[in-house]
Amino acid sequence: MALKLDSIIIPRSCVGNGTIQNNLIPQKIGIFTWRFLKGRIAVKTELEKRGIVLDSLLCPMCNNVTESIVHAIFSCKTAHDVWVGIFKWWKINLPSDITLDELLGGTGYGNFSSIQAKIWQAIMWTTRYIIWKNRNQKVFNNDSWIAQKIICEVQVKTFEWIGNRSKRIHKDWHQWLYDPINLGFPAINNRDPG
Ligand SMILES: [Zn+2]
Repeated sequence: MALKLDSIIIPRSCVGNGTIQNNLIPQKIGIFTWRFLKGRIAVKTELEKRGIVLDSLLCPMCNNVTESIVHAIFSCKTAHDVWVGIFKWWKINLPSDITLDELLGGTGYGNFSSIQAKIWQAIMWTTRYIIWKNRNQKVFNNDSWIAQKIICEVQVKTFEWIGNRSKRIHKDWHQWLYDPINLGFPAINNRDPG
């Protein structure tokens, strides 16, 4: 599994002990990301590898494909639609045929300042977490499983978390929705958040 964006920001050597962190978002998201990077997400194929006997390995959301981590988080129709929406929100172009590589490489990433890259990383990590949370809420509580709802949840949570954790990032909901890359403060773009 290629994980370009994560490996750019987090050296591989740091993914050994469960401590990866992006201080713009809660620690639980870093822990989930570490589990993701280690393949420790309880999708059906991973449960089977650990000796758990299941009636079916099919994805519980689409009932079409074996449920791997990549399928659950990226390829299943609704998850895929979420990523399309998140990239669109950040005005980052996606090729029509999205591969995992391209998804994680984040076209346009190369032009980001360090703080923009850190915010984008926080969004990528949060999106994975919230897709998985919504998958579980659908499986266990039969909640809705709708891309637009998941996208909104990512926008609301990241706005709250990043706004509360960085005094230098202005909390402007309108800007967050329509121009998140610039945040209205180009002068802070090359500094770390305080
Ligand atoms: Zn599926």
